[in-house]
Amino acid sequence: MFKANVTEETVRDLLTESQALLSGHFLLSSGRHSGNYVQCAQLLRFPKKAELVLSRVAEQIKAAGIEITKVCGPAMGAILVAYEMGRLLDVEAIFTERNKQTDQMELRRNFVVSEGDKILLVEDAVTTGKSTMETVKVLEDLGAKVVALGCIADRRTAAAVELPFPVFSAIKLDLPSYSPEECPLCKAGTPLVQHGSRKMK
Ligand SMILES: [Zn+2]
Repeated sequence: MFKANVTEETVRDLLTESQALLSGHFLLSSGRHSGNYVQCAQLLRFPKKAELVLSRVAEQIKAAGIEITKVCGPAMGAILVAYEMGRLLDVEAIFTERNKQTDQMELRRNFVVSEGDKILLVEDAVTTGKSTMETVKVLEDLGAKVVALGCIADRRTAAAVELPFPVFSAIKLDLPSYSPEECPLCKAGTPLVQHGSRKMK
């Protein structure tokens, strides 16, 4: 069985030691600069670490007494998150994926959700909440109800959309980003690396 009561500090350590949470000076895809970079797939390389991190989310959902019939997350980032949460909560785990022709999120592969299904939506990290709501629409158009969101990292800021259900995360990360002009790391002369690049020092 998994170890209960994993703290947020332990989660931070697990993200750091798996290199899912990097420190340095990073160019984000938005063009902004940040002192941190998050890539949850790095954590998910290690099933035992992922189990510990997501047990923190599962414990909160159990403590809240929320009934779940299925776990669902959007591919690719949330497939492994859905699998592990499904395992921890002992429910079916499925995923949505983007149709390359139409660019629409869809439930494929004969996965079924229906009226009466209470879905735990999962994500690796939540930032704006916009893609989350896209997945919610797919599931609720099929008659299911999304009752909660579970994620590894809650990175929402004040600018994020309001989600109409409780959010349970393993860790809340408030990672500031800067325009290149006002970046303190640039001013300090720290070398800038593309996100994901390992040339950092
Ligand atoms: Zn910078």
